[in-house]
Formats: sequence, structure tokens, C-alpha cells
Amino acid sequence: MKAAVLSIGDELLGGRIVDTNAAYLCRALAEIGIRTVAGETVGDERADIAAAAERLARCADIVVATGGLGPTPDDLTRWSLADLIDKGEVIDDAVALEVVRSWCTKHRLPVNEARSIVAKRPPSATFLTNDCGTAPGLHAMVLSAQTWWLPGPPNEMQSMFRRHVLPALSPTDTPLAPTEVRAVGLTEVQAADLLGDLLDRTRRPRLGIRVGGRVVRIAIDPVGEDVDAAAINSLAGEVYERLHPFVLPQDADNLFTAVGDALCKRKWTLATAESCTGGGIGSAVTSVIGSSAWYAGGWVTYANSMKMEQLAVPSWLFGQDKPGAVSSETVQAMAAGARERAGSDIAIAVSGVAGPDGGTLAKPVGTVWLGLAEPEGVHARRILVPGDRDRIRTGTIDVALQWVRWVATGDDAPLLWEWPE
Ligand code: ATP
Repeated sequence: MKAAVLSIGDELLGGRIVDTNAAYLCRALAEIGIRTVAGETVGDERADIAAAAERLARCADIVVATGGLGPTPDDLTRWSLADLIDKGEVIDDAVALEVVRSWCTKHRLPVNEARSIVAKRPPSATFLTNDCGTAPGLHAMVLSAQTWWLPGPPNEMQSMFRRHVLPALSPTDTPLAPTEVRAVGLTEVQAADLLGDLLDRTRRPRLGIRVGGRVVRIAIDPVGEDVDAAAINSLAGEVYERLHPFVLPQDADNLFTAVGDALCKRKWTLATAESCTGGGIGSAVTSVIGSSAWYAGGWVTYANSMKMEQLAVPSWLFGQDKPGAVSSETVQAMAAGARERAGSDIAIAVSGVAGPDGGTLAKPVGTVWLGLAEPEGVHARRILVPGDRDRIRTGTIDVALQWVRWVATGDDAPLLWEWPE
């Protein structure tokens, strides 16, 4: 079964409101296995609404339209529908008129022409009750498509969609929960390279890639006639294999949760020693519920004196012509100091040039050294993060935690933006 959505209103085309109705409808339909194949937005013009509805009815089995059902002169939807199915004729619906009358009586308002407009419908259409507002919805066949016409206010529309539209849709439609495979620590283009032929647009089910919330999200789209839950699961398995070790576990929707899971499985605790991220790694890990089970704590050692005092970083590292704060030696000493003083199993340290000033030819803005101490030894890796100060700091947090995760799970791969010596 194919669906189409029609959003009606000058406010939408004028950019004064965002079309959340269409997003809600597409999502709600996908949740029950119905694919939305087309959507249109039109202004409050009688002919435009009718023309759009007819176009959509030609390409879908069901059409859900929202907006323009109220009592004001710019609400023209009922007349557009009447033009499509009843040569422009509308009649007064006795039941709906009674609802308007009792509403007016209750609110001590006169039953006038304007208020009664919402009780008019094309003769071939049926009314849908509105339990959150005064304008009823409409249901009618347009060509061979079932069409539902719902009011614009989202609370009214959603309640009517659940009460009138959902129960009328075929119960045999295979429910296909939206499936998303998430990966971190690589770019969208890298992910596309690894997925290769799986991204072929003719494949069923079809894959879509987007980046959101610092995570590469691969959606397995339930498009296609023979697509069922088994086909979706099998493709998800293949995506997992190709994107390993960047892929997150299915129950983790972000890197920080995945780090916690990996550390818990290993029964390890983590300590942090931060310079350029200023506590961002500690903040990220403590955003995870239950992180007290695996996060011991950390240090923000911005000044060299703090690195020496708090983490026992040797003072000679900061001398003339010596490695300096942003160096392999310093982050290794920071990580080792943090691990020892916190009594944790693993410690991650970062020190870098977040900019916009302070870059040199040897250490340009975006250079970050990461140190990691774990039971087997102490290691360092360097990255060159592109972007502004904010991006460099958030990018560093993600890369540092990805490395922690990989050490805990026993995986490894090049870090994002890794700049080997
Ligand atoms: P009413 O009886 O409220 O006039 P209506 O069906 O005529 O109902 P509209 O006048 O089209 O609805 O829209 C009323 C309000 O509903 C808009 O001002 C807006 O706040 C909200 N709305 C309408 N369409 C949408 C949409 N597609 N997405 C989000 N909000 C919407």
C-alpha cells in the first residue's frame, strides 16, 4: 500500500510554520509498514488544493491531507474536495450542525453562518469527529484512492489520525519497525565506501545514509513489495559486518553509551585527563545513566603546572626545545598519572591546539595528541581535527572515546583524522 500526504496552508509556504504534520504522518505510516511515496504543500487556493489532491490520488492508495478545514474564509479545503468529487456541491450535515449548535449554546454564542460552515460537506464525503476541536474531518474516495482530510492543528490532527485513519488501514500490512544502524568515528563518505554496492538505489530493502548528532546513521528503508522483517534483519547484519568496528551496538544510540557498555562488559573503570577539551570527555561520559559504575573521575589540567602537580607529568617535558604540552610524551604521562592516581583500569588523556591562535607549522591548529594507559601499557596517537575551536573540541571528545571503546572491545582501526608520525 502506498501513501501520500498533502499539507495545506499559506503559513507553510510562507515559512511561518514548519510542517510537522507531514513528518508525523510519514513516520506513523512507516511504523505500520506503509510507505509514503509522495507529498505536496499547497497554499490556501481552492483550485491548487484540488489539483494537488488529484495528483496524489493518482500515485497512492491513500492520501492524508491536513489544514484548511476551519470556519474562516481562507479555509477552503471542503470546497476543493467538493470540486473534485461532487461538482462543487456542499450540503449541511444534520449531525455536525447539531454539534455546532450545542457547542454555541454551551459557550453562549450565537449560531451564525460562519460557525455553521464547518458542518458543510460534499454529499459523497463522510464526517470524522474531532474530539480536540470544533472542525470535523472528512473522508472520501478520490479516483480510486481513499482520502482523509484532517484539521491543521497538530493535536487535533494526531488524535483524529489515530482514531479514524489508523483503524481503517489494512491490518495485513507487515509492521516494519524503522531500522537504523549507527556508526561513529568515520565520515559519511568513508561509510559509503565501505557499504559499496549495498547503497545501490535499486536494491530492496534500500539503504539511506545521513549524519545526525555526530553519528553516521544508515536507515534500512522498508521500500519494496517483497520486503519483510527477515530481509531487513539480514541487510542490517551485512551493514554491521561492513562497518565494523565503527558500528555501534544496536541498543546504543550514541558513542558515550557504547563506551559504557564496552567498559562494563570488560569490568573496567575509566579515568580522564583533559587539557584542550576542558572536561568535555568527563561531561560526555557522565551524561550516560549509570556511568558511576565505570567512570572513576578525571582531571582538567589546562596549565602545565597543573599537569605536573596533579598528574606527575615530568617538568623537563616543558623546557626549551622539549616536546611541550601537545606531545606524545606529555599525553602518555598524563594518562599514566591519571590511571595510577584514580586507580582505574584505563585512562585517556588529551592535549591539543584548539585555536584559533597558537598553531605552528609543526603543530597546526587542530593538532591533538591522545594518550591511553591500560593494563598492558601506555600508548599515544595523534589526530588533526578540521574546523573551528568548537569542532576541534567536540571532535576530540568523540575520537578519544572511540579509542577507549576499541581498547575495551579489543578492536582497532585508524582513528578519525588520524595523523601518524
Ligand atoms: P482551524 O479550525 O484551527 O482553523 P484548520 O484545519 O483550518 O483548523 P489551519 O487553519 O490550516 O487549520 O491551521 C491552523 C493551525 O494549525 C496553524 O496556524 C498551525 O499552527 C497549525 N498547522 C496547520 N498545518 C500545520 C502543519 N502542516 N504542520 C504543523 N502545524 C500546522
